[in-house]
Amino acid sequence: MQQDCIFCKIAAKTIPVNTVYEDEYLIAFPDIKPAAPVHLLVIPKKHIDNILEAAPEDTALLGHILATIPKIATIAGLAEDGFRTVINTKDNGGQTVYHLHFHILGGKFMTWPPG
Ligand code: C5P
Repeated sequence: MQQDCIFCKIAAKTIPVNTVYEDEYLIAFPDIKPAAPVHLLVIPKKHIDNILEAAPEDTALLGHILATIPKIATIAGLAEDGFRTVINTKDNGGQTVYHLHFHILGGKFMTWPPG
């Protein structure tokens, strides 16, 4: 837990969110400023600044998050038409919250490449 981290506060339930899915290691909730009809964030409960800062001992955690994203997307009704998963990293990647998070975006057809 990092004291000034908004996602740590969400993980600790200090800030309430509408939890879509939760287990021992992660929590998924709607993005406060949705960029698609369905826009969820999946965060590890453990504070990691971003994917660059993930340590070798986080490998199982990262695998668990990736393995759980299909389950979360299915709960959100995105399995049939598909969805996009995004990890923004540092400034050029568009990262604004420095607690690792995976965006799940869906509910519309998305173009590529992103802006
Ligand atoms: O990848 P990036 O760091 O830009 O994404 C952070 C995301 O966290 C944004 O989409 C923002 O809307 C979301 N957010 C949120 N709840 C907060 C603060 C940020 O859903 N309290």
